[in-house]
Amino acid sequence: MKRIAILGSTGSIGRQTLEVARSNKDLSVSALAAGTNVELMEAQIREFGPSTVCMWTQEAASDLKRRVADLDVRVTCGMEGLLEIAGLNEVQVLVTAIVGMIGIKPTIAAIEAGKDIALANKETLVTAGHIIMPLAKERGVSILPVDSEHSAIFQSLNGEPAERVSRLFLTASGGPFRGKTRKELEGIQVEDALKHPNWTMGRKITIDSSTLVNKGLEVMEAKWLFGVDLDRIEVVVHPQSIIHSMVEYVDGAVMAQLGMPDMKLPIQYALFYPDRRPMEGERVNFFELGNLTFEKPDTDTFTGLALAYRAARLGGSMPTVYNAANEKAVELFLARKISYLQIPQLIEESMDQHKNLPNPTVEEILETQRQVYEFIAGKVK
Ligand code: NDP
Repeated sequence: MKRIAILGSTGSIGRQTLEVARSNKDLSVSALAAGTNVELMEAQIREFGPSTVCMWTQEAASDLKRRVADLDVRVTCGMEGLLEIAGLNEVQVLVTAIVGMIGIKPTIAAIEAGKDIALANKETLVTAGHIIMPLAKERGVSILPVDSEHSAIFQSLNGEPAERVSRLFLTASGGPFRGKTRKELEGIQVEDALKHPNWTMGRKITIDSSTLVNKGLEVMEAKWLFGVDLDRIEVVVHPQSIIHSMVEYVDGAVMAQLGMPDMKLPIQYALFYPDRRPMEGERVNFFELGNLTFEKPDTDTFTGLALAYRAARLGGSMPTVYNAANEKAVELFLARKISYLQIPQLIEESMDQHKNLPNPTVEEILETQRQVYEFIAGKVK
């Protein structure tokens, strides 16, 4: 029996992780955490019987406590609750499917407690990769990628050392606005940006995919996960989303992982690695597909990707600024307070005004996030 905890169980990745648990009876769910979706959390508790759960707000936790008063489950709340779940004795693998930098502290706590991490929450590695990766090595825990691109690289690497890799190719669908000019992006509305051509995901990552900021975050995530420097990580636009990413080796061989777009595959692979389990689902039909195509990303239009490389090259606290500015800008865009093109613009302005800290601590990372939020609040009245 493998015992897991899921942070963000009511979200897109969290729900799909529970689907994987539903079809693998030797996976047991010890703990769950979510923001405020009490109704779904109640249903998840009744189906999966975790010992501990956490809601972000006190109000949601009190409501949940009332709803599950007939069950033997501990209901906690806030960061304290997330940290408690991260360190629970019975948990072996923590699935970080929470959205945003809120994931940093629980991920570190889980590594310190010796838990393996099935990592979906890329914002954590982007901002604190310099803390998380050495800590994981020191504690002998595995960081298993859930992101489909990183899982594809992980599968294509199959244990080969970084010295044998010449390049990583991260594939990108290009999002709903591939081929559009900057002028055409001016009037983009929330509804347009929430329509991803190939994947159904949470709202924030769907917007990030449309701006190519998601790909920028993934470049930084790949750098930390696989120890490959930025100049050897390339983004390839592949609109069919069948090749999930590729590794080019020093002898020129390229290994790729292909499959239908379905996040349950990388989730299941991370949870049972190094085993590969059977999974129901649609299979690639090459004869129906016909063509797989590839393009260079248009970084003049989608400046978010170029800014990610800039932030990653500068390192230190700059990736935090990039990420925090994006988190805030996406929130404002979803609330219809800024235009679509203001998202990359606010990221750039936040980076331009920031005095980089070379090796930030967790507290400095969170303080940088606060300063960026404040800077943006001052710009968007
Ligand atoms: P969703 O928005 O669908 O879900 C987010 C989850 O986090 C929800 O369960 C939400 O709870 C919970 N949550 C939000 N704030 C808090 C908080 N303060 N405390 C506790 N829980 C909280 O996001 P996704 O599942 O799409 O994405 C999750 C992460 O995985 C992101 O980092 C994303 O980049 C990454 N990822 C996602 C992919 C996808 O296919 N969706 C693919 C690859 C990576 P509630 O519902 O109650 O608000």
